[in-house]
Formats: sequence, C-alpha cells, structure tokens
Amino acid sequence: MLRRTLALLVTNVALGAALVAGITATPAAAQTLPPSAFATTLTYDDSYAAEFKDEVAAAVQIWNSAVSNVQIVKAQPGQRANIRILADNGWPRATLGPVRSYGSVTVWMGRTAVNQGYNVVRIATHELGHSLGLPDRRTGLCSDLMSGSSAPVSCANAQPSSAERAAVERNYSGWYGTKVDNKPVVITDAAGK
Ligand SMILES: [Zn+2]
Repeated sequence: MLRRTLALLVTNVALGAALVAGITATPAAAQTLPPSAFATTLTYDDSYAAEFKDEVAAAVQIWNSAVSNVQIVKAQPGQRANIRILADNGWPRATLGPVRSYGSVTVWMGRTAVNQGYNVVRIATHELGHSLGLPDRRTGLCSDLMSGSSAPVSCANAQPSSAERAAVERNYSGWYGTKVDNKPVVITDAAGK
C-alpha cells in the first residue's frame, strides 16, 4: 500500500511537471518528456485486413517507433484485439480513441481512397492515429499525418509530426488518461469533406 501510494505520488508529480511543461514548452521540448511508467500495450487483429496487411504492419511499426507510452502488437490467435482492422469498399474510417487495453476500436481500410491514389501506408497510419486518440486536423500539410486527404493525393508521408507524437504520448501518459472512456465516434475520411 505504501509502495502504491508512493508510486501515485511520483506519477502525480511527474504529470504535474509534464502539464506545466506542456503549457510553456515548444513542440520540440515536449518530445523530451520522460516515458510513462505505465506504458500501454494494445493488440491488433488484421485477419480481415485482406490485401492491406503489409501496409497495416508498416503503420504499426511507424507508431511503435514514434511513441513510447503506447505500443501496438499483433493479437495472438484467440486473444482479444483492441484494434480490429477491416477492409471494405467505403472511405477509410476509424473509431476515435484513445483506446485502452480493456477497450476495442475498429479501423476500416476503405478502398475508395486507395482507388483514388492515396498512399496506403499513410492511410493506415492516419487511421491508427484515430485509434490512439488523434482527431482530424485538415491543415492541408503533407507533413501532418492527421491532415488526411486535405493534403495532396501525392502525399506519401506516413510519419506523425512531432506535435502528433506528443499528443499520443499525452493520451497514454498515465492515470489521467486512463480515466477517459472510449467514445463510440466513427470518423470518416472522405476526400473533399
Ligand atoms: Zn481521419
């Protein structure tokens, strides 16, 4: 009990410092925040990802390299998946997270955007960004992952920006984050929206 109380104290102090730092820090400085002591592991299931399994695996690897407070691993056979990846003929879309290790969300790898020429790894990384709690920010910039189809069709950047990485780190930074329950909101990424 004492140990748990101490751990909570340490966490709250660290989070307090992080929150204060977040108010004044530049995005670059935000990246230097220490990793959470409560890193979250999420599972994903690509059984129904059809022809997109390789791109989904690449997107998972990008996120795992980009952030440390949450990591995504493939669900073992019979294991419940936190992120279900489906392929269909609609627009790419996803449940808005941040999904927790006790929750589940869905990503739809919609072929409509793929057929229009949008980069498939960028689509997968973008939709996983929704799973991790990032909303759309239609800045039109290819350097932003969550700008989605507001960036040119030719944009092949699948790397989250430093601000997007920091936002995911905050979403999985500890007790404050875990209090947020999943909202069953599905974001549809239709071009020209
Ligand atoms: Zn989106």
